[in-house]
Amino acid sequence: MEKILFLVHTDGGPLSKGALQALGAASGLGGELVVGLAGVSTQAAADSIATCGAARFLAVDGEAFAQPRYATDAAAAEALCRVSEATVVIAPSTSRWARALPGVAARLHGAVDTHVTSLGADLSATRWFYRQRMEGTLTRTQRPWMLLLEADCAAAWNGAAGSATAEQVPMAAVPTRTTVQGLQDSKTDEQTIRPEANLLFVAGAGWTKKQADGAIHTDQAEQLILGFLRASQASLGGSKSLVDLSGEGQAVLRCMSHLNQVGQTGSTPRHPKGLSTCCHGEEPHVVGWRFINDRRAVNMDANCGWARGKADVVYVADAFAVMAIVNRMLGG
Ligand SMILES: Cc1cc2nc3c(=O)[nH]c(=O)nc-3n(C[C@H](O)[C@H](O)[C@H](O)COP(=O)(O)OP(=O)(O)OC[C@H]3O[C@@H](n4cnc5c(N)ncnc54)[C@H](O)[C@@H]3O)c2cc1C
Repeated sequence: MEKILFLVHTDGGPLSKGALQALGAASGLGGELVVGLAGVSTQAAADSIATCGAARFLAVDGEAFAQPRYATDAAAAEALCRVSEATVVIAPSTSRWARALPGVAARLHGAVDTHVTSLGADLSATRWFYRQRMEGTLTRTQRPWMLLLEADCAAAWNGAAGSATAEQVPMAAVPTRTTVQGLQDSKTDEQTIRPEANLLFVAGAGWTKKQADGAIHTDQAEQLILGFLRASQASLGGSKSLVDLSGEGQAVLRCMSHLNQVGQTGSTPRHPKGLSTCCHGEEPHVVGWRFINDRRAVNMDANCGWARGKADVVYVADAFAVMAIVNRMLGG
């Protein structure tokens, strides 16, 4: 029987949705489950998943694990893997684990797979290749096998909290040279990328183009977009043409950065619904909508790409007028 280690780092608060999804996937695999926690103080997190059916709770507590840092994250994961004698390690795909676990797999002479999108009961894993065009199913005989599960690909574990007794794993002090001095956000003024939002709102280059009056209205465009995002809590995506404008020094929307770009050379976000505005809907952009189920678009051009089978509903209308009305309806 496989010994499955669910590996999680905690900041002392409740476990993230992604972590609970990884736990849901790990507990569905049928092996002997062990929970491994790393953080300044892990007891609250252990208690919150006390009834998950784990045979053991292992923890490494310490100030050193407060900061995301390769040396300490890798040392913590290595210690938890060794003590648990895990043959399979399931972890949420966080930036910390994505950075540290490949090195840990090498230290343990194991294997690692990142960007995993599902785990089968027969211990097979799926992931996408070549920018979401091909899906592969993987099995491995090498152990320990570490798998980083992407967010929103598995049902989250949602059992009751309780009281867990976590065994502290002894660790020698880890030599560190890296100190985290702070966090720097992307250059956008406020958070516009919200992976857990129900709606993806995409802005295209049309927002910065001359309108019917022969003038451009980027200030008004920004107000309408930000007003809608605040009222709806949607996540903001952009077309390549729009985000590239900032690189060319033109008047652009300050709420946009290249991080917002959706498409073949951008991101492939996951949201139940999407609304595209002032974006033509060309294939290299729409390929990034692969995981958006319900697609709508507002475009003045009845012959745009969205109208050619790429959207469920196309509103042939002026997005400036439409979004002003929508914002009013939302109380903005
Ligand atoms: C190799 C490669 C990779 C690429 N990768 C990406 C990628 O990752 N993501 C991406 O987005 N693109 C990508 N592209 C570029 C892509 O092909 C398009 O050029 C780009 O998506 C066009 O952006 P757009 O629709 O915002 O702009 P435009 O093509 O300029 O379209 C603007 C639209 O706005 C509409 N409009 C204007 N005013 C209004 C108004 N008032 N109300 C309503 N509609 C209005 C117009 O009718 C028009 O359809 C890639 C291209 C290549 C070759």
